[in-house]
Amino acid sequence: MKTAYVTDARFAGHTLADHPEHAGRLAAVEERLTADGLRERLLPVDVAPATEDDLLAVHDPGHLKRLSRVAEIGTPTMFGPDTYVLPDSYAIAVLAAGAVLRVVDAVMGRQATNGLAAVRPPGHHATRDEAMGFCLLNNVAIAARYAQRQYGVRRVLIVDYDVHHGNGTQDIFYSDPSVYYISTHQSPLYPGTGDIREIGAGRGERLTLNIPLAPGTGDAGFFDVFNQVVIPAAERFKPALILVSAGFDAHWADPLANLRLTLSGYDRLTRSLYALAGRVCKGRIICVLEGGYNLQVLSHGWANVARALTGDPTAVDPVGPAREISRPVDALIARLKQLHQLS
Ligand SMILES: [Zn+2]
Repeated sequence: MKTAYVTDARFAGHTLADHPEHAGRLAAVEERLTADGLRERLLPVDVAPATEDDLLAVHDPGHLKRLSRVAEIGTPTMFGPDTYVLPDSYAIAVLAAGAVLRVVDAVMGRQATNGLAAVRPPGHHATRDEAMGFCLLNNVAIAARYAQRQYGVRRVLIVDYDVHHGNGTQDIFYSDPSVYYISTHQSPLYPGTGDIREIGAGRGERLTLNIPLAPGTGDAGFFDVFNQVVIPAAERFKPALILVSAGFDAHWADPLANLRLTLSGYDRLTRSLYALAGRVCKGRIICVLEGGYNLQVLSHGWANVARALTGDPTAVDPVGPAREISRPVDALIARLKQLHQLS
């Protein structure tokens, strides 16, 4: 069993001082993997940019044009209040999207069982035609479409445990029966989407599963939701590939949100998805980095993902437990089961 790993020093070229989504995030991740001796356990994969066809399978041509124009003009530009695009950002985003595709190649081509992609900028807020929430191109969506087009994968499951709702991923696959999008996220919180009643449309009905969690939910609530809703719903779908939008901002020490998950809690979620992949799709699971703005949490969280995917039973949690007690999720689970016809 091998675990493919991709990252690239060039992602550091997309960074803005004093912005939470900066190059120091991946630097912290790399430092941690090296310090913990995890790099040598992973199969390194070379990066190549995504092709225009790969991008156009998800994004509108106008969107790509607006991003690439920033390079032509040569002036840093804000897309909305919080998303910066520098002259080099589009090329770097194309590289980040391409990096995830190389992990798809490794897994679908059987050089590896599973994989991780430590990429920036993140992707899950990027819609077909809009850059937002620090995201320019939707890396996970591009990877899902690529797996379908290149390898004939019929059903792709995307699980998003970033604290924010992945509105972009939801939008892209909202009426698509071949991609199941499941998201746990804090509500209310940016971007304001992900209501429990958003369940998909047309042939994609009940193939969008939104789990809006109240601030303070914590580990116990997360486990209940995963065990009683996420995992049974995912098993019913019978995916041939699982992609994880892995964001670490649901941790209690993250500055942007308040869901009170711990590093040990995150590790349990990852391991339940890893076990699910073992049961339903020959272990094919690929974790793609999204948010996470406390660097200690982010780096240890990512290192724990690397341990889980390489079959190492240990998990490291130097940040410790949240002080507050978890909030119950029983009523939410009952409603989700009813809405999604889960017994
Ligand atoms: Zn996030």
